[in-house]
Amino acid sequence: MAVTTEAKTYLNYINGEWVASSSEEVTKSISPANKNEVVGYVQKSTKEDLDKAVAAAKAAQASWRKLSGAARGEFLYKVANILEKNLDDIAETMTREMGKTLPEAKGETARGVAILRYYAGEGLRKVGDVIPSTDSEALMFTTRAPLGVVGVITPWNFPVAIPIWKMAPALVYGNTVVLKPAGETVVTAAKVIECFAEAGLPAGVVNMVSGSGSVIGQGIIDHPDVNGITFTGSDQVGKQVGQGALARGAKYQLEMGGKNPVIVANDADLDLAVEATISGGLRSTGQKCTATSRVIVQSGVYEEFREKLVAKVKELKVGDGLQGDTWMGPCSSESQLNTVLSYVQKGKEEGATLLYGGEKVQGAGLEEGFYVQPAVFDNVSSDMAIAQEEIFGPVLALMKVETIEEALQVANDVKFGLSASIFTTNIGNMLSFIEDMDAGLVRINAESAGVELQAPFGGMKQSSSHSREQGQAAIEFFTSIKTVFVKG
Ligand code: NDP
Repeated sequence: MAVTTEAKTYLNYINGEWVASSSEEVTKSISPANKNEVVGYVQKSTKEDLDKAVAAAKAAQASWRKLSGAARGEFLYKVANILEKNLDDIAETMTREMGKTLPEAKGETARGVAILRYYAGEGLRKVGDVIPSTDSEALMFTTRAPLGVVGVITPWNFPVAIPIWKMAPALVYGNTVVLKPAGETVVTAAKVIECFAEAGLPAGVVNMVSGSGSVIGQGIIDHPDVNGITFTGSDQVGKQVGQGALARGAKYQLEMGGKNPVIVANDADLDLAVEATISGGLRSTGQKCTATSRVIVQSGVYEEFREKLVAKVKELKVGDGLQGDTWMGPCSSESQLNTVLSYVQKGKEEGATLLYGGEKVQGAGLEEGFYVQPAVFDNVSSDMAIAQEEIFGPVLALMKVETIEEALQVANDVKFGLSASIFTTNIGNMLSFIEDMDAGLVRINAESAGVELQAPFGGMKQSSSHSREQGQAAIEFFTSIKTVFVKG
């Protein structure tokens, strides 16, 4: 397409240079708050562009891995400082490009800074163990080797934090990187990569190529010189990534969807549970993989909880994420909006009762955006699509149960197992939940959507390929263990 407005054009970053795609074509990145607003023009890249980026990453590998972990960490400290300096601009770009509110976007960017500093410090931490050999004259120990070139494929919902929590450990452990950001958030990604460029990383260590999933994403999956692929996104695409990587023997890591429950026990602090259900389910317009979507409530407090929840949800202000009084921004795209509306329709057809919301928001100034009211369904049963499938939008499904055992049975009755929370004051309920809940993150008296950067993150069942990201767990994916046996 031709460039028609004042919006800036963003280039690919390959071998230390900002370059246009060989296609000579761009696509526009629009704002979900107003589809007529162009946030920027981005490169519609080709396989040829990707080949150049992978070649650059491959060429940079030998000298990058030869640096000490401390030296690689120093670069990450520099990136962190630059990201912090640019925080306001990057957060505002994120809000304009994918809709989350400005305070959330600032929080996410600050998280990116903290992740970079955490992994900068990893450059100085231990990477192996001494293991006693049966030979008394030998020394046996483990060390770690980087994978080589790592392909990073990321979604739009955390366009700063997710690329950084993949790239920072990849880099500090000695890999070089080719990032393919989500099509919807390339401008934000480009601004993050600008921080790496300004920090002076050697050419080829970090590369970014924007373009479609089917060309650039698939190109990374198939590329013989990409040694590892780390992916976050939908379970459909994730499975393709895993199968493709496996077919050519590349290492892969997949973080995918969730259908996360909150259990509210008869003895719960109901005000706390309501607040956490709203925050966990509806912040970021429900577009977090850890968002609460099923609300499983014991019968003794069901009606009271429901009334409190609906009353609070009705108060939430939907609007442009840049406006100070907005609590919930738009869906990130028209297709996300249509997905939410179609699930609301499906819920009604399946016999659930829509208590509130689920309509496109029509208010003044919002006509051109992808706004939807948060929705609360009652009388939801576990076999309904709205209780089984990931909607990735602001839709809460209320389900009534008699006992905690039944609550856990319902909570586990989905193919996903990413995060889950329970509100209870009873230690027995807490212990049953910790033991029996099939989820990679289990949280007690806290919302389902909280993640700390120094702790392992990832899901069970079909939410993940069962490796973990973040914290020190990241070393497992981004390196291979080498067992060393030395005899003098
Ligand atoms: P997608 O799976 O559609 O896209 C994720 C990334 O994969 C994008 O960069 C996309 O590119 C790319 N891609 C698309 N098709 C292919 C392909 N054929 N081969 C290789 N790459 C491809 O997910 P969304 O971006 O829509 O993100 C939302 C999903 O991410 C939700 O389902 C959510 O649950 C999940 N998610 C999971 C998290 C977790 O940690 N478990 C965290 C955050 C989100 P393009 O954008 O160009 O299509």
